Amino acid sequence: MTQFHYYNGSLWCEGVPLSRIADEVGSPVYVYSAAAFRDHARTFRDALSGVPRKHLAYAIKANPNIAVLRLLAAEGYGADVVSGGEMARALAAGMPAADIVFSGVGKTPAELTRGLDAGIGQFNIELEEEGVVLARLAAARGVTARAVLRVNPDVDAGTHAKISTGRKENKFGVPIDQAAAMFARLSALPGLDLQGVAIHIGSQLFDLAPLEAAYLRVKALVDELRSAGHRITRVDLGGGLGVAYKADDRPTPPADYGAMVERVTRGWDVELMFEPGRVIAANAGVLLTRVIWVKPGVVNPYVIVDAAMNDLARPALYDAWHDFAAVQPSGERMTANIAGPVCETGDTFAMAREIDRVASGDLAVFHSAGAYGATMASTYNSRALVPEVLVDGDRYAVVADRIAAETILAAERVPEWL
Ligand SMILES: *Cc1c(COP(=O)(O)O)cnc(C)c1O
Repeated sequence: MTQFHYYNGSLWCEGVPLSRIADEVGSPVYVYSAAAFRDHARTFRDALSGVPRKHLAYAIKANPNIAVLRLLAAEGYGADVVSGGEMARALAAGMPAADIVFSGVGKTPAELTRGLDAGIGQFNIELEEEGVVLARLAAARGVTARAVLRVNPDVDAGTHAKISTGRKENKFGVPIDQAAAMFARLSALPGLDLQGVAIHIGSQLFDLAPLEAAYLRVKALVDELRSAGHRITRVDLGGGLGVAYKADDRPTPPADYGAMVERVTRGWDVELMFEPGRVIAANAGVLLTRVIWVKPGVVNPYVIVDAAMNDLARPALYDAWHDFAAVQPSGERMTANIAGPVCETGDTFAMAREIDRVASGDLAVFHSAGAYGATMASTYNSRALVPEVLVDGDRYAVVADRIAAETILAAERVPEWL
């Protein structure tokens, strides 16, 4: 979070005061630091410097803004995409199709076709029928789909249930005990070049143990596949590394993760694929908001801000914590609840939290909002779609416009028979 720092009593992003952005762009608004994105991208890459053959595919669902993608493409990152829309973004940002991994449990035949036509580098197959359809579509086009089979290793990643993906009851991947037989059937199909296997066990992981356990299960599968005569050249290790949202959070540093990967995968003789999302984006952004009212409460006052659950859904979805800080703190503190204007009790960012004392009209930020923030925004309660700003040094640009409620209204019709 060093790119968000106080200077002369006011919070800045790199060389730009946040108050200036609020004055010129309005609020709420996401503000991203280009330097932080670059720093996180390099730190993750450096952590894996001991891995001889690798490809880094940024999981763009974490923050798919096209300017962010352009910046990460310049850092040598490809993309992990989970929909045709994300694929279009990655291509529009200039990421080569060969550097794109197409993941997702519900890719439609139309999306698979678009991926084949674009020349996507790797399809992650989530069920046997998808592989059969992909092979047929590829063969019909006279092309070969490069693919890996996503397996579900049945490990508990020890994270929030809604972002855990590697337990056997989760919807993702094929059961690891059925993977070898399925691999044999799929790899016999013309149109499909099945090169290896993939996993992704969850997000916001603090502990390396479940990742290591999952990787070891994958290695056992790779050995089994090789002894059955398959050529295995790729293993996709997914994403999931956690970040600090609170001052006392102690996520695994990327360097420790890299050391584990290097130790566990030594001698695998494959190209390793990585799909980091949150670890690149989360602490590269804040949600800048203005206090509308401070409403007296029965126990604690409610600080009502102009950002809401439609702008930042994580607290409502996962009970997630985002640090809240005044842009111009007085030094005084208060205990308060923080809520948005949306008509849902779930539109509450914090209860009984000790925060900087704020009053109506003050600016504040929710920290660590660069991942799974703007990308999950909606227009619920007919609110505008939240804009995004990218700061780079002492300049900034609006990289996503605020889409007014009136613009969204203009896309609706009343049928003439009403
Ligand atoms: C979401 C996702 C990621 C990224 O997860 P992070 O926790 O943000 O690193 C990587 N791979 C797949 C398949 C995903 O669905």
